[in-house]
Amino acid sequence: MGCNMCGCKKRICLIYTGGTIGMVPSPNGYTPKAGFFRRMLEEMPEMYDPDMPSWSLLEFDPLLDSSNITVREWNKIGRAIAERYRDFDGFIVLHGTDTMSYSASALSFMLENLSKPVVFTGAQIPLCQLRSDGRDNIINSILIAASDKIHEVCLYFNGKLLRGNRSTKKSSDHLEAFESPNAPHLAEAGISIRYNEAAIRPPCVGELRLQEFFDVPIGVLKVFPGIQFELFAFIMTDQLKGVVLETFGAGNIPSCQESLLPIIQKAYDNGAIITVCSQCMQGSVSLGAYATSKSLQNIGAVDGKDMTTEAAVTKLYYLFSHYTDKDAIKEKMTQNLRGEIS
Ligand code: ASP
Repeated sequence: MGCNMCGCKKRICLIYTGGTIGMVPSPNGYTPKAGFFRRMLEEMPEMYDPDMPSWSLLEFDPLLDSSNITVREWNKIGRAIAERYRDFDGFIVLHGTDTMSYSASALSFMLENLSKPVVFTGAQIPLCQLRSDGRDNIINSILIAASDKIHEVCLYFNGKLLRGNRSTKKSSDHLEAFESPNAPHLAEAGISIRYNEAAIRPPCVGELRLQEFFDVPIGVLKVFPGIQFELFAFIMTDQLKGVVLETFGAGNIPSCQESLLPIIQKAYDNGAIITVCSQCMQGSVSLGAYATSKSLQNIGAVDGKDMTTEAAVTKLYYLFSHYTDKDAIKEKMTQNLRGEIS
């Protein structure tokens, strides 16, 4: 794969953070092992195919199961990309599947003015096993990152390229582990890789800017029938900056119980930004469409529309790290910043 100007190869930076793809069995279950992923990669003949771009691998220390990913690792991934941004044409982030959609969403906000591809991928079956899906995911991610077609943070898995901040993990055992239920696929890898040009974001202009995240206190509250809201009152302190409320359907909450609204109101009065998302995989919140959501609209909750919970949570981290004015944050929360809202 050469660049148009001089026939030289595209340069792709692989960042291995941990996750199943490079894990090995241990008495306590699968766990990442330093140096193992590099060895597996170096043993893959495809990595030296003449059509393969040139690549180099950065391995994080420590390697993590992605259940242990925090704001600190998001900042570390962001810094690793920003520091190498001029030296590479694209970036692959190898990551555990459990929180990959959170991390892809986080990086989509953190990397301002992005004009190069950042592709998250991983595997459901480790590379050390015969049936690993990791090989296909790595090879296609690299080819996509070298294609000149993509200029945003996305997630490649099992033949599909999804916008990172639209993706969600949908299966713990199928190889098709991710979907972007409210956004079209950016590409599909069949016999050839077909790009959905109309869905792909254009490259940003200007210098890349990294907005590292602060450890903002954020809560996610999932509503369920019979929920005893008073149990959650103690977390609604003035330390809480943002709440993502996972509601029924189009933004509905039980209205026959007296206790929810005062609790949400308390969080709002304390300065928290309440963002309403839906428990449905597909479709949008529409505050005020039903009487059971009107009250949320009345107390000033933000309509999260068709944002995933992953996007809403990481967007709150981003906005609270970037801005201090609450009205500005609330306003930005409703705006489409990186293709996360239709
Ligand atoms: N627990 C693993 C992780 O998220 C699962 C995986 O990678 O598929 O790191």
